[in-house]
Amino acid sequence: MLLSAEKIHACYGAVEVLKGISFDVSAGEIVALIGANGAGKSTTLMAVSGIVPVNSGKIKFNGEPIQALSTQKRVGLGITQVPEGRRIFPQLTVLENLEIGASLRTDKAEIARDMERAFSIFPVLKQRRGQLGGTLSGGEQQMLAVARGLMARPKLLLLDEPSLGLAPKAVAALFEVIREIPKNGIAVLLVEQNAYQALSIAHRAYVLETGTISLQGSSAELRQNPGVKKAYLGG
Ligand code: ATP
Repeated sequence: MLLSAEKIHACYGAVEVLKGISFDVSAGEIVALIGANGAGKSTTLMAVSGIVPVNSGKIKFNGEPIQALSTQKRVGLGITQVPEGRRIFPQLTVLENLEIGASLRTDKAEIARDMERAFSIFPVLKQRRGQLGGTLSGGEQQMLAVARGLMARPKLLLLDEPSLGLAPKAVAALFEVIREIPKNGIAVLLVEQNAYQALSIAHRAYVLETGTISLQGSSAELRQNPGVKKAYLGG
């Protein structure tokens, strides 16, 4: 198991947002976390990346407990989060944004190779590599955010709501790329309100409802589940 979270609790002040949830991700898997607004999906990702502390429970990465480690240490172990809202650097070029993704690495030759790989996955970023990030379209900025995450050469990529604010065509293009990420040996934990898209590329999924996991299974099973269909797939 690459990542396992066991009965984790997290609070904002006195409000408990994660109420003892357990989930796991294996190497090479895409696992989706779906659920309504405010269910705790982003908080779950931030608990894994270390931005939000857990009050109790265990998070293990490659079998080692990580819940006491800083975010930077977790990045060093191979956990990279792509935050919600494509937070790229608008005043820096596409190339500079990608270089920042690799800033904790020292293996220059490998970084150059990964840059070429990112450009082959996202040809539009190659075309626009000298352009300022802020001048890209929303879909392109989201691609840049994902490519920047990949430049850290993670073992686990945490994606928060990559479809947010994108036109349907851009969402489809982006999800086609996300689907391919495990081929490079990288696992993905994907948080999405767009359950339809998430279940179309994930191997497995968890449904989060007000801080509790209410359902879990393969994406195929969940797509057929009447409750999931009604609540998250529009009938
Ligand atoms: P969304 O899709 O809207 O981001 P979500 O499922 O990711 O929803 P979270 O962002 O994890 O949900 O939020 C879970 C709950 O915690 C919500 O009720 C939210 O209002 C609350 N919350 C989130 N961030 C904070 C914060 N910094 N301080 C206090 N409460 C917060």
